Amino acid sequence: MLNVPPQAFPAPGSQQRVAASGRAKVPLKPGRSLMDWIRLTKSGKDLTGLKGRLVEVTEDELAKHNKKEDCWICIRGFVYNVTPYMEYHPGGEDELMKAAGTDGTDLFDQVHRWVNYESMLKECLVGRMAVKPIAAPKEISSTLSEEKKQLNGMLSEKGVLGASTKDVMLSYDWFQTDSLITIVIYTKQKDLNAELVIVDCQDKRLRGEIIIDDHSYLVEVDLYHAVQEDLAVNITEKVGKVEIILKKNDNIHWKMLGQPLENHNTFIKRTDRGQFYRKCKLVSKTEVTHDTKLFCLMLPKSTHLHVPTGQHVYLKQIIAGTEVVKPYTPVLPFLPLDFKEPSCHDGAHIYLMIKIYSCGPFTQALEHLQVGDYISVSNPEGNFKKSQVQTSEDLFLLAAGTGFTPMVKLLDFALTEVSCLRTAVPELEVATADRVMTFRREVTSPTDFQVQQERYSIELVTKKIEQTNKMTVKLIFFNKTEDDILWRNQLEQLALKDKRFEVKFILSQPTKDWMGKEGKISSSLLSEFVKRSSKYSKVLICICGPTPFTEQGVQYLKDLGYSQEEIHAFTA
Ligand code: FAD
Ligand code: NAP
Repeated sequence: MLNVPPQAFPAPGSQQRVAASGRAKVPLKPGRSLMDWIRLTKSGKDLTGLKGRLVEVTEDELAKHNKKEDCWICIRGFVYNVTPYMEYHPGGEDELMKAAGTDGTDLFDQVHRWVNYESMLKECLVGRMAVKPIAAPKEISSTLSEEKKQLNGMLSEKGVLGASTKDVMLSYDWFQTDSLITIVIYTKQKDLNAELVIVDCQDKRLRGEIIIDDHSYLVEVDLYHAVQEDLAVNITEKVGKVEIILKKNDNIHWKMLGQPLENHNTFIKRTDRGQFYRKCKLVSKTEVTHDTKLFCLMLPKSTHLHVPTGQHVYLKQIIAGTEVVKPYTPVLPFLPLDFKEPSCHDGAHIYLMIKIYSCGPFTQALEHLQVGDYISVSNPEGNFKKSQVQTSEDLFLLAAGTGFTPMVKLLDFALTEVSCLRTAVPELEVATADRVMTFRREVTSPTDFQVQQERYSIELVTKKIEQTNKMTVKLIFFNKTEDDILWRNQLEQLALKDKRFEVKFILSQPTKDWMGKEGKISSSLLSEFVKRSSKYSKVLICICGPTPFTEQGVQYLKDLGYSQEEIHAFTA
C-alpha cells in the first residue's frame, strides 16, 4: 500500500502555487486533492449519471452540456462528464469550463497533453462522438493493404502515411544474415544524430521513431520471430541513414520482417503521436539535499534513447489504482569540472534530481520506490534548441529550486561544445583572411623568416579571436535557504576552476548568518546581475522555476529591454 498522506490545500506554507502545466493552480477546497479524486473514482459512485451505459454523442447533444452543474467535454473523440471533477481540477473550474460542451482536445493539448486523462477520467466516460461518415482517401487505404502484403520488402515513398506538407522523403528497408536482422531507415536528413532516434524492442514489438523537426516517422512492427534483448543503432549522419540491428534468437531464415502495427510507417506531427513508455529499473537513489534526491534509472538493453539538452521526460506511476504522469528533466550524475571534452554519457542511464514534497502524491510514491523497482519513462519532449546557445556570447541561467535541473545539461553543453563550435568574430575573421591573401599576393617566394613572422602574427590574431569568442555563463540561483541549494559545492568548485562560469546564490528566506544576496526575483536584481558583456553582444537568458517565478522573470527581462528571442522559459 502506498503511504500517501492526506492533503490540505493550499498546503500550509507552500510557496508552490502553480501547476506543472504552466497554469496557475487555484487553492482547492479541503477534501478535493488528487488523492480524494482517486478515492471518489474508486467508490463505485455513478459519476456520469448514465448508470454505466456508454452512449454515442452527437455534436448537438454535446453542446447542451455546457454548464458547471452539467458539463461534458470531448477529448480525442471520447466524451467525458467532467461535472464531478470540477472541484478537483488543479487549474480551477473556469479553465475546465472553457471547453464545456465542445471538443476540448486542442485546449487540452496546449495545457497538458501529457496528463493521462483516460485513466484520471475513466469513470466519467460518457461514450464516443458520433462520427459523420467520411470516405477514406483512396491512396491511403490502398497503400495500407499493399503495405500489409509486402512488409518484407522495401516500401515506396508514397507508403509514408500521414505525410505533411513538409518535403521529407522517408523509406525503410530490411535485410538479414544468419544471425542478424538489420532495418535501415533512410531519412535524407543531413543533421540526424543519436538524440533524434528512439528505438525500443519489447516482446517482439519493434518501435523505431525518427524525429525530424516537429514531426516524427515511425517504424512499428510485430516481429516475425523473437530477437535477443540487446540491439544496436548506427547512424550515418551525413546521409541521414539509421540502421537498427537486432540479434536473432534462433539462426533461422525470416520470411518477412513481421506484421505492421497500427502506426507503422507514418510521418506525423510529434504532438499527434501518443506517448510511448518503457519500464526502467531504479538502480540508485542518493541524497542531494534534505528533501531532494538523485534517482538513477537504467534503460532496458533493448532501448536506444538519449534525452536532448533542455528536454524533459514523463514518469508514470499507478497511484491508488490510477495512472498519474508528471514531467522531470534529466540531469548529469554530477557536474563535470573539466569541460574540455564533451561529457561522455553512457546512454544506458537517466539521472533525475527530484524534490520530494510531503504533500505531493507523485513524489511520495517515488520516495517509496526501492532500488530494483521499475518505473515507466516516456520519450523526451520540449522545445529548447541547442542552436539558441550556439549563437550566443553571454548565457544567463535563472533558476529557482528544482528549476535548476534543465540548467545542468545546458551548462555542460555551453562549456564543452559551444566555445569550439562558435564561429569567429566576423571583423577579425575578415582581417585574418585579408592578411593571408595579401601575404600570398605580395610575397611570391617568401623566405623562411617571412613565413615564420607572418605565421606568428596570424596566430596572434587567431588567439584574439578565440579570447573574444569565449562564452561566459552566469547562473543566478534562487532558493529559500542555504540548505535548499542543489549541488552548491560542485557549482562553487566549477566557478573557481572555470573562469567562464560564475554563480550567484540568492535566498528568499535566509538565516541571519547568510552573507550573500537576499531577495526574490525582481527588476532591480535582474538589472544588477544580467548584463550584456558588450553593447552588441548576443545574449541568451534561460529561466526555470515555479511558473509565477518564470512569468515574472520574463516580464522583468522584457521591461529591461531583452527581446523574446533572447529569452527561453522552460515550461511543460
Ligand atoms: P504536487 O501535488 O504537485 O504538490 C507539490 C507542492 O505543491 C506541494 O507542496 C503541495 O502542497 C503544493 N500544491 C499542490 N497542489 C496545490 C494547490 N492546488 N494549491 C496550492 N498548493 C498546491 N520536479 C523536480 O523535482 N525535478 C525535475 O527535474 C522536474 N522537472 C520538471 C519539468 C517540467 C517540464 C515541469 C513542468 C515540472 C518539473 N518538475 C520537476 C515538477 C514535477 O513535475 C512535479 O510537479 C513535482 O514533482 C510535484 O509533484 P507531486 O505530485 O509530488 O506534488
Ligand atoms: P521553491 O523551493 O518553492 O522555490 C525556489 C525559489 O523560488 C525560492 O526562493 C522561492 O521564494 C522562489 N519562488 C517560489 N514561488 C515564487 C513566486 N511565485 N514568485 C517568485 N519567487 C518564487 O521551489 P521548488 O519547490 O523547488 O519548485 C521548483 C519549480 O520548478 C516547480 O514548480 C517545478 O514544477 C518547476 N520546474 C519546472 C521545470 C521545467 O522545465 N518547466 C523543471 C524543473 C522544475 P519563496 O521564499 O517566496 O518561496
